[in-house]
Amino acid sequence: MRQSQFFTKAKKNSPSGELAKNAQVLIKAGFVHKEMAGVYSFLPLGLRVIEKIKSIVREEMNTVGGQELVMTSLQRKDLWETTDRWSEERVDVWFKTQLQNGAPLGLAWSHEEPITAMMCEHIHSYKDLPVYVYQFQTKLRNELRAKSGIMRGREFLMKDMYSYSLNAEQHQIFYDKVIKAYLRVFDRVGLGSDTFVTFASGGAFTEFSHEFQTVTDAGEDTIYINRERNIAINEEVLGPKVLRELGIGKDELEEVKTAEVGNIFNFGTKKCEQLGLVVSDSNGEKLPVFLGSYGIGISRLMGVVAERFSDGKTMLWPKAIAPFSIHLISLCTDESMTSLVGEIYQKLLSAGVSVLYDDRPMRPGQKFAESDLIGIPHRVILSKKTITDGVAECVDRINDSTTFIPLGDLADHITSL
Ligand code: ATP
Ligand code: MG
Repeated sequence: MRQSQFFTKAKKNSPSGELAKNAQVLIKAGFVHKEMAGVYSFLPLGLRVIEKIKSIVREEMNTVGGQELVMTSLQRKDLWETTDRWSEERVDVWFKTQLQNGAPLGLAWSHEEPITAMMCEHIHSYKDLPVYVYQFQTKLRNELRAKSGIMRGREFLMKDMYSYSLNAEQHQIFYDKVIKAYLRVFDRVGLGSDTFVTFASGGAFTEFSHEFQTVTDAGEDTIYINRERNIAINEEVLGPKVLRELGIGKDELEEVKTAEVGNIFNFGTKKCEQLGLVVSDSNGEKLPVFLGSYGIGISRLMGVVAERFSDGKTMLWPKAIAPFSIHLISLCTDESMTSLVGEIYQKLLSAGVSVLYDDRPMRPGQKFAESDLIGIPHRVILSKKTITDGVAECVDRINDSTTFIPLGDLADHITSL
């Protein structure tokens, strides 16, 4: 992509009225557009990051046997009434709308009810289980406060997966697999060492559910951790009982602010029973089905990464989710040199490298400042001097090192990174 043709422009100043660092830097760099509080559009740069995160999550969900689908955003009132989750007293984040004839509809804040009702048409026998399905879907939630940038949206992207299992054992095996898959996801997006599997409230059989909490000052949650022993407890369940169960003392725990990047939840058999999802066993007897629900906040994850890898002025994406692999910066001004850089750019593209090419006639200082803000970890600089010397200056911003690579070896060097 040639930056001269890119419609988004990095802004000189931070957006006014935006409190969260993640949104400030992402708006300034042209990754997202703020529509209103808690509602953000993803621009080409931001969308590339979102798509990279999605591919990682998709790979890991497929690895545990997930099948991808997409459910609708318009939802039936009767399904949510069946499980007593239609009223605002039970679910305080509903957005609702209605048909022209006045019939009420819900706007998707979650999908357990519609997806379970749909499964009644597909799952009949014990032989049909287990079933694991997931989607990437825009969720709409009328959040009371939306001050954390893209970390708390009123419209946001979630990956939600649902497991339908024959018995508690089959359910538990999958649940444990998902914990591992989630940890791989958070590792791959660069948050591995800061993300903890956290004991939290809820869950149908077990007293606890598991949250995936990433340490960040921008988080809205408080948890207690012991890094050596890799123990984390949400403040909502911190008490003598859980401490005893985990064999740890309060004085061995450190209080930290965190953001919940993922959540896995055991619904037991209740929801399937309410919605009529049962299977027949080999004797034709009806058996209840076990439901598990597993979420990852895709857009929140991007926000947490932005918090973690930005100082508010510059950004440095982890390689796996950077919008482009290479930021190619031309400092050449005369025409013959510039066309040579154009050829090098084409060569990189042909080698399958994703390149953002700053071909604009601007001062070097301004180009570098924007490049620091956009945050692509590898930078390739071509100037009259480097080209005359037959080399490109390759900067690895992650370990802050510079190497000069002969122009003929550049494509190979970069594909090997
Ligand atoms: P929170 O306590 O932060 O409101 P939640 O318990 O309501 O989260 P879930 O319903 O379990 O969240 O949703 C699954 C995942 O979706 C969460 O772990 C989080 O990563 C993400 N998520 C939830 N609400 C939002 C939001 N308003 N904006 C962005 N991501 C969100
Ligand atoms: Mg919530």
